[in-house]
Amino acid sequence: MTARTVLRGARWPGDIAIADGVIVETGIVEAQPGDAVVNVDGDIITAGLANTHHHLYQWMTRGRAVGCDLFGWLVELYPVWGRLTVDDVAAAALVGLGELAVTGCTSASDHHYLVPHGDDAVFDAIVEAAATVGIRLHLSRGSMDLGKSQGGLPPDHVVEGLDSIMASTERVIAQHHDGDMVHVVVAPCSPFSVSSELMEASAALARQHGLRLHTHLCETIDEQEHCLERFGRRPVEQLDDWGWVGDDVWLAHGIWINDEEITRLGSAGVGVAHCPSSNARLAAGACRVTDLEAAGVPVGLGVDGVASNEVGGLFPELRQSLYAARLRAMDPSAFMPADAVRLGTSGGASCLGVADRLGSIEPGMAADLSVWPGDDIADVVDPLAGLVLGPDRRVRHLYVGGNPVVQDGHLLGCDLAAAHAELAKRARRLWD
Ligand code: ZN
Repeated sequence: MTARTVLRGARWPGDIAIADGVIVETGIVEAQPGDAVVNVDGDIITAGLANTHHHLYQWMTRGRAVGCDLFGWLVELYPVWGRLTVDDVAAAALVGLGELAVTGCTSASDHHYLVPHGDDAVFDAIVEAAATVGIRLHLSRGSMDLGKSQGGLPPDHVVEGLDSIMASTERVIAQHHDGDMVHVVVAPCSPFSVSSELMEASAALARQHGLRLHTHLCETIDEQEHCLERFGRRPVEQLDDWGWVGDDVWLAHGIWINDEEITRLGSAGVGVAHCPSSNARLAAGACRVTDLEAAGVPVGLGVDGVASNEVGGLFPELRQSLYAARLRAMDPSAFMPADAVRLGTSGGASCLGVADRLGSIEPGMAADLSVWPGDDIADVVDPLAGLVLGPDRRVRHLYVGGNPVVQDGHLLGCDLAAAHAELAKRARRLWD
């Protein structure tokens, strides 16, 4: 019999036994000879959190355009991002993924749409950073092909040509997609930075390879006005015209969606990455999470880039999603701690198309687990209320496919403090 690892003594949901990277038993697990036991007395264990939307490179540019809305913020930041090198993005990815791991994330998603001087080795660098940290990566090969001179928002020098985007995406898929630790996703950036040709070619390419599609949509009123002016269509209508309304698609933000569109997305199975801190920071609007879920839309949580989030940890988004939903509804029972945990785990796994083996603690599921210290909330009757509403915390242990990634609070794959120091050195170069 394969040796088991048994996490023993958790206050929630009880003991968990792992073998061959998979959860084999939960609840009260009887001891077996040869068990490797990890005592987690009083701790709380959730399925590993899934981050459904991020821009890791933005770790290079925190604290800028602090009082701006999305378009003002982008216009200030695009030229700075245009100066990043592949090595800068690598340094930011290492910090970003490390911070995700210590805040409970086992499946990261990076929507990367800036290719420094056309060098798509940037995607190899992000994959390498994920391997170093040891967490799963949904690598969204992002793209922009609509510069300012063509009616887009970004300056011309930060966009790519359609042909090179397609060729590079093919290359990244062939080299990195393994359907386990790395999932490549085809991900044009946003309606105001892409051509219709890019949206349609991306959908065709993703479906040819059986991969998922991701983009920003319905984030702001400005974006909606751009679509009405350019296409005479609301963003979701335009998405439909591009052939993007399907269960292989998830959208970042999904705020400005009307009732009819929510029904359409729900019946098609399009997911939404809800990024409550970023939405609040940019005053983008309030995502209709409860309406989306009621219509059957899978909703997951996203950090979004730290140039609009500033924290970069997934744990705080649990509490923020609860606060955002209650404020929007003006109803304290509209969204409960268990709802926030669902968004962060199984909801996220559904968005990423991996809910068949990730996002819940059941025998047969992959052993992707976040062990949260429970000492300081031992007095709280409901452990999930203590977890979600209580102080921000970092994991005691993190397991990905049964492998320890964080142990006793320490990230095993790299020196996170050194990674931060290297990032700061590089980021200061951009201050001039
Ligand atoms: Zn984003």
